[in-house]
Amino acid sequence: MTMKKIVKLLVDSGIDENEAKCEVNILAEHFCNYTANDYVRGIPLTDEQIDLIRSKVEYRIKNKVPVQYITGKAWFMGDYYKVSPDVLIPRDETELLANLAIEIVRNNNLKNVLDIGTGSGCLACSIAKYTDAVVLGIDISSDALRVALDNVSTLNLNNRAVFRKSDLFNKIHDNEKFDIIVSNPPYISKDTQLEEEVLKEPHIALFADENGYEFYRKIIQSAPSYLKRGGYLMFELGLGEALNVKKMLEHDFTDITIKKDLAGIERLIYAKYQ
Ligand code: GLN
Repeated sequence: MTMKKIVKLLVDSGIDENEAKCEVNILAEHFCNYTANDYVRGIPLTDEQIDLIRSKVEYRIKNKVPVQYITGKAWFMGDYYKVSPDVLIPRDETELLANLAIEIVRNNNLKNVLDIGTGSGCLACSIAKYTDAVVLGIDISSDALRVALDNVSTLNLNNRAVFRKSDLFNKIHDNEKFDIIVSNPPYISKDTQLEEEVLKEPHIALFADENGYEFYRKIIQSAPSYLKRGGYLMFELGLGEALNVKKMLEHDFTDITIKKDLAGIERLIYAKYQ
């Protein structure tokens, strides 16, 4: 057995070849300390290492589990974040939101950030790490918050990113006002067919009522009460949702901007509360 044959096991089970290569790299690095660099340099894996990786791949295929739940970690904005089935696995697209939030916070010297539906805490921690702002991450799930707390301490960001259990704004006090609210809310319509691997992620982190718009609507309606004048609201968007979210924002917000991701999909929207 070679690395190539292990990749083929995944491809034969229906996984795209590039994705399969990525997954094998993730498993090789995590379980055998074997990096892509070792591969390029032609360093061979031992038979024991190959067997170990193959066994993980077989488990992954049989149970249709995302590899990040097998390794217990995911790469986001230059750091590993702990993940478990209690949290959404941070996505590459979400780095777009993190980067833009960081840029806006830095350029405007913003101090208070709210991250709604923080999950693993990946957005809250990365914004805290790359700016001077303090970030409050909130989530309805105590289990998710436990993961976020592990991440904030591993990254040595205690006091810079803090967490609170809150169902949307229900535990945010009336006198708490933020410079910017960010959210990658659940935005998948409940009738969408998803791959089994994705369905292993928490359904409360994935799905939303109102054809996927429930949380955009609720957050947009309440956000003005918790934003300073001139503050920003920024969302990740699901496929095809940009226009409707823009319409919702037009009521209280100005300077609405939509950004596309690398695949050309409208992935991000932000606006100013005037
Ligand atoms: N904020 C986390 C992320 O972007 C979790 C989002 C969610 O659970 N919907 O990955």
